[in-house]
Amino acid sequence: MDDKENNLTNNNNDIIKNDDDNKYEDICYMCRRPESQTGRLLKMAGSFCVCADCMQKTFNLMNAGDIPGFPVDNMGAGKNNDKNNDSANNFGFNPFGFNFGFLGDVPKSQRLKKKAAPQESSDGSEDVTAVLDFRKLPPPHKIKESLDEYVIGQGKAKKVISVAVYNHYKRVTKDASGDIEIGKSNMLMIGPTGCGKTYLVQTLARILNVPLAITDATSLTEAGYIGDDVESVLSKLLMAADNDVERAETGIVFIDEIDKIAKKKNTTSRDVSGESVQQGLLRILEGADVQVPVGASSKNAMVPMTTINTRNILFICGGAFPELDKIIKKRLLVGSGIGFNSILSDKYDEDDVLSHVSNEDLREFGMIPEFIGRLPVVYTLSGLDKDMLVKIMSEPKNAILKQYQKLLALDDVELFFDDDALEAIADKALEKETGARGLRSIIEEFMLDIMYEIPKDRSIGRVTITRDYIESKGGPRIELHGTAPMIHPLSEGGGSI
Ligand code: ADP
Repeated sequence: MDDKENNLTNNNNDIIKNDDDNKYEDICYMCRRPESQTGRLLKMAGSFCVCADCMQKTFNLMNAGDIPGFPVDNMGAGKNNDKNNDSANNFGFNPFGFNFGFLGDVPKSQRLKKKAAPQESSDGSEDVTAVLDFRKLPPPHKIKESLDEYVIGQGKAKKVISVAVYNHYKRVTKDASGDIEIGKSNMLMIGPTGCGKTYLVQTLARILNVPLAITDATSLTEAGYIGDDVESVLSKLLMAADNDVERAETGIVFIDEIDKIAKKKNTTSRDVSGESVQQGLLRILEGADVQVPVGASSKNAMVPMTTINTRNILFICGGAFPELDKIIKKRLLVGSGIGFNSILSDKYDEDDVLSHVSNEDLREFGMIPEFIGRLPVVYTLSGLDKDMLVKIMSEPKNAILKQYQKLLALDDVELFFDDDALEAIADKALEKETGARGLRSIIEEFMLDIMYEIPKDRSIGRVTITRDYIESKGGPRIELHGTAPMIHPLSEGGGSI
């Protein structure tokens, strides 16, 4: 195969040409709308399809002679008479002899999944809730138990999120009938960076097996300005749902750094990435039919569009809200007439001030009332202390230390960490002030030498990471298969094997 052929194959890698094909809707090659929107498509040779509207438009153009190079003589009525074009003699797969090849194939990422055939429920009626089965939805205490396996601490937040999510999906699956409409339980999560906000939502989506899109509010701008429109969050969700609109419509969207779109204070210019984005989000948070590009984050003429209803999508917003504690303290103190420190130590725990947050405080911070109103479930996550950081390293199901232990076990080497070594790592992470996020990079730095050196010597049977090694005062403790422990000179100043 020459280079040119190679390139062509690579470029078309994501074109559907296999059994998977049946799961995706066909799409009109001209207007790029899926068959569910265009009505029945006319299917020609290969995977080429065209809708009735485009077909009609093409006929009209041909009759008017407005398509350059088109063999109008064959159609009779055209004005465009290109004598050099021999396509009139070249009738191939379509009856007009016109080559549509320039339109190109449609990549899989731009094709929508076909709707599943409606399932019958036991009483024979159509089951409208087939996407999510209420009977399979775990009750709140089970959701929390599953979260406990992965997320350390944050007990209150886990409880609130479990109940809110359970109610949300109860509403999604059961709300089809009855005259009392259950409100949406969109959430606002407040907590310092690296305390597990994103991780909590990721774990939740995995437990519930629903698609999740994570986006950063700082990338959003008012439509028409440089940056992503608010609709782009729904495009991401559609991608996460493998272009299945029905699944996307019951998914979760997590918008991080929501505090960064607070209303700018004392600004005279248009606030296109702050208040305007909050305004733009209002409609989708509440529930609306939104036109969304398929397989791309921005709209353009060649990207197919579809409609997503956001009524059953759960929106969770998260942010660190720096300085919000000061606003809360100020409110708590108004009218008390007592010194700040005395009332604080009497009534409120300094670390717990955030949990007293009210809508009034959020408004003062710069969130517009309509926006806050659409996030009825507000809760806070606490900053991580040393104990929690140590637990995060070692306790969760997929804890980072367990991952390293598994990696070394494949080399037949046991890996241990002294308790005070873990504390030393936690201290370093606390200094960085990035919560648990710093842990991985710190551990990776120390484990690099271990992962590099250990496989060199097959006689090594056990490695213990010591506090001295973390503090660069010595090496890890090494034990050979069947011998006494010794200190390995992996770091400067270490002993010798
Ligand atoms: P943020 O609050 O800034 O969204 P993340 O959720 O992204 O923080 O946390 C970063 C990483 O730290 C996560 O991927 C996870 O591995 C770890 N982590 C943070 N908090 C916890 C926690 N409470 N329990 C277990 N792991 C956590």
